[in-house]
Amino acid sequence: MDVRVSEIGIFLNCPRQVYFLSRGYELRRSLENIIFKEIAHVLPILFSEGSDADGDAAALVDKILDAAVEAVAVAYRDELQELLSVADASHISSLLAESRAALAVELERQGWLEKILKDGRFFEEERARDVFLVSERLGLSGVLDKLFYGKRQELTPCIVRASARCPEFGVWHADRVQLAAYALLLEEKSSTVVKKGLVEYVRAGEFREVLIWRRDKIEALRALKRIRRIKGGMFPEKSEHARCDICSFKNVCVVEKKSLASKLFGSFER
Ligand code: SF4
Repeated sequence: MDVRVSEIGIFLNCPRQVYFLSRGYELRRSLENIIFKEIAHVLPILFSEGSDADGDAAALVDKILDAAVEAVAVAYRDELQELLSVADASHISSLLAESRAALAVELERQGWLEKILKDGRFFEEERARDVFLVSERLGLSGVLDKLFYGKRQELTPCIVRASARCPEFGVWHADRVQLAAYALLLEEKSSTVVKKGLVEYVRAGEFREVLIWRRDKIEALRALKRIRRIKGGMFPEKSEHARCDICSFKNVCVVEKKSLASKLFGSFER
């Protein structure tokens, strides 16, 4: 049974989400998150063209947002129709324009541009984007956001995160383990050892580098095995850190827990 690297991240946030996804429920995606993913790709391109929008910060943010929104409108047609539940192109354009306007306000309020301009790594062009990696041996696959080559041509996986939150130091645990999973895939494909990875917290304006340790790879493999069991039908315990208040499955999760407890004990305790 094939497991995707993104499922490892979901599993580490809450194993039950993997259960619901495997049963056909869907996680809500946000339009802003898709736009931020594209911002991570347009930044190096715009800046390699020497774009400074005459040194005007607001004009530069506009240019970045325009380029990202244009890319989203062209390349994410299917996802947009599904996400926004509309098929009409002009309706989609107006929803994109609304998000773009809200993001312009958010970025200006946060001083986002000043933050990213201090870190040149936001403007380094990746060697490849959306790299599909698969290992039949491990039963694992994933689409890596960016792949960089280091000074000695060492492969460096990079994942882009569109959440407004990022840790004070280093990277979130789930991101570290997903990087380790991508490292396993890259190592198998290229017969090399991947020693470090990158996380681009683009919305938060932070770019982090981490070493990939053996224990991270072991944890990725353990998660892989547990995910297979969950996809096979095991209903797992919730995570200690589960954020049920913002979870797409909060209604169905309670119902499922009730019916499982009823089967086991003939009653349900909240
Ligand atoms: S509602 Fe809570 S326990 Fe249930 S899937 Fe969501 S995060 Fe996990």
